[in-house]
Amino acid sequence: MNTNSTTNTGKSPENTSLNNLPFDQFITKFEQRLVGLFEENNDIHELSCQRGLPKSILKGIMDGEPLSVAIQQEYGGRGAHVKECLGVLAAASYQSLPLSLMFGINIALFLEPLAKYGEDEVKKHVLSNFVANQHMGGLMITEPAYGSDALNMKTFYQKNENGYHINGEKHWQGLTGMADYWLIAARAKDAQGNFKAPYDWSDVIQIDHSNPQEQQAMIDAMKYWVQNFDIDGFRADLAHLTPLPFWINARTQLSEMKHNLIWLAETEEIDYHEAFDISFTWRWMHAAEAFCQISAQH
Ligand SMILES: Cc1cc2nc3c(=O)[nH]c(=O)nc-3n(C[C@H](O)[C@H](O)[C@H](O)COP(=O)(O)OP(=O)(O)OC[C@H]3O[C@@H](n4cnc5c(N)ncnc54)[C@H](O)[C@@H]3O)c2cc1C
Repeated sequence: MNTNSTTNTGKSPENTSLNNLPFDQFITKFEQRLVGLFEENNDIHELSCQRGLPKSILKGIMDGEPLSVAIQQEYGGRGAHVKECLGVLAAASYQSLPLSLMFGINIALFLEPLAKYGEDEVKKHVLSNFVANQHMGGLMITEPAYGSDALNMKTFYQKNENGYHINGEKHWQGLTGMADYWLIAARAKDAQGNFKAPYDWSDVIQIDHSNPQEQQAMIDAMKYWVQNFDIDGFRADLAHLTPLPFWINARTQLSEMKHNLIWLAETEEIDYHEAFDISFTWRWMHAAEAFCQISAQH
């Protein structure tokens, strides 16, 4: 990540209260701003024929703090409500497709994963620069030989005393030349150059879940426990690290052996309820913990 540590705030006095406006007023102001920039002060048809947007127009757009809708309040944003994110995307799409793509990349490909998986210190720094200094971010996953097959990507990182060294080749990245920060998908390698397992789980290293034979071997292992020990169900730790189609396949096959198996997942991914009956999530646990602490204080 490029961490431009700008500290001056790009906010104009007019904007300091934008965050506090109810959403209908916030979005109306933003729409009016776009109309002014695209239709009243410039020729929208001329702009549509150019690549990118002139700097002054881009600044005018970003002065309306559109990306604050995708940032949590604790980091200076409006709260990351889906409805507000979609409202900004709709307003942008009405005027300019490239603008809507630009917001889509920032919101869905950068801010959402950062909010979900980023460390607090990183989030504080990066998100404050989004709010105050109009910074942007993009996502690098695709590699020249591994587009759809992203799980086989070759880009890797090694930890060194100064941080991380990343080595690999990426292409197709949206916001190239514009993003101040990048999320880069890379795999861990140890000092000997071997790919590392997630955490210390060397037994699951480089399992290829896209291989049907691998899938069937895992399901057969699960069948063994039902057949020989009549177990009541399965608890899957970090279920979402294994693709959902695998779990659906596993459940379908195992249900034929025993229809009332219980499927419990450790996951934050709601889609996994297609295969699992119940889930436990750390986010929920921490939220409940915080709620109880606040309740205890009052
Ligand atoms: C406008 C644009 C913006 C993009 N922005 C980003 C970005 O910001 N960040 C990023 O990381 N990437 C980005 N991408 C890359 C995009 O996500 C990749 O193009 C995508 O992952 C496909 O990879 P590929 O082009 O290498 O195609 P390939 O993986 O080579 O696939 C080529 C074709 O084969 C088909 N195919 C592939 N595998 C299979 C299979 N197993 N079975 C059947 N058919 C298959 C695919 O559907 C496709 O039709 C962007 C692409 C575009 C066009």
